[in-house]
Amino acid sequence: MGAQAVTVIGLGPMGQAMVNAFLGEGYRVTVWNRTASKADDLVAKGAIRAATVREALGAGELVVLSLTDYAAMYALLEPVQESLAGRVIVNLSSDTPDRAREAAAWFAERGARHLTGGVQVPPSGIGDAASATFYSGPREVFDAHRRTLEVLTGADYRGADPGLAALYYQLGMDMFWTSMLSWLHALAVADANGIKAAELLPHAVATMTSMPQFLEFYTSRIDAGEHPGDVDRLAMGVASVEHVEHTARASGVDAALPAAVLDIFRRGVAAGHADSSFTSLFEVFRKGAAA
Ligand code: NDP
Repeated sequence: MGAQAVTVIGLGPMGQAMVNAFLGEGYRVTVWNRTASKADDLVAKGAIRAATVREALGAGELVVLSLTDYAAMYALLEPVQESLAGRVIVNLSSDTPDRAREAAAWFAERGARHLTGGVQVPPSGIGDAASATFYSGPREVFDAHRRTLEVLTGADYRGADPGLAALYYQLGMDMFWTSMLSWLHALAVADANGIKAAELLPHAVATMTSMPQFLEFYTSRIDAGEHPGDVDRLAMGVASVEHVEHTARASGVDAALPAAVLDIFRRGVAAGHADSSFTSLFEVFRKGAAA
């Protein structure tokens, strides 16, 4: 029996790491990238260069996409859509849940099946079973290809709705970007006061690693719709965030981030939550922009 085959389209840092992982496990890997030179090193290691997207799609059933977003995918695949029938497209390009659902329908109309993927690690985490990728789409398609996908990362199947993997990915990004910005903002305030990032590192790590305790404490209360002010009060939170904003301004640092946080806290107070926990802001978010 010949080696198992997989096609990888898109050879940015992520696609390249994926090809390396498949080659390392002895897969027959066909590659294509718009900028052809990005395949050179991979071809030297044994990957097969497809001359065209059509040829890449023709190499086998399983096609992994690692493109910037879904717009790039349509730009590539619309002109060759008649070559999609019978293919399993594992779309590891990040985008929104809505676009993932649209894409699954678009592929189905062309006789192809689509698995949405949301890779949770940078390229350095590819090939590590401890890393994880969210998947969603038809269960039988996922099960049939699970072992191959596990060459890349651990595989966390979220359900049949094609939007789910993208949704879980975006939920992670929602937390990631806000948390990272909070760190950069604190670094700027520290820097304005003569404290370098390296000096703040132990304190920054201690603050970030204290977060799981808060998540675990408040989660059941949030699911129960309860925000008692027994351990914290939103009104106290307003005073605290005012201090953060003031410290940023006094340090000559852009205070837009704490000002936005303060605005949300104040809206919570205006909605009547002053004596509730800061978790009552969940209700403010839930009511949407109209609230
Ligand atoms: P890049 O943006 O560096 O690479 C994207 C690939 O998409 C390149 O091969 C590029 O081709 C191709 N591409 C973009 N636009 C077009 C187009 N219009 N037509 C044809 N090809 C196009 O991304 P990464 O490799 O870093 O990531 C790939 C995906 O993985 C992204 O969706 C990203 O969000 C996701 N991801 C990335 C992580 C990371 O840390 N890098 C972490 C988790 C997920 P060309 O080389 O010709 O420009």
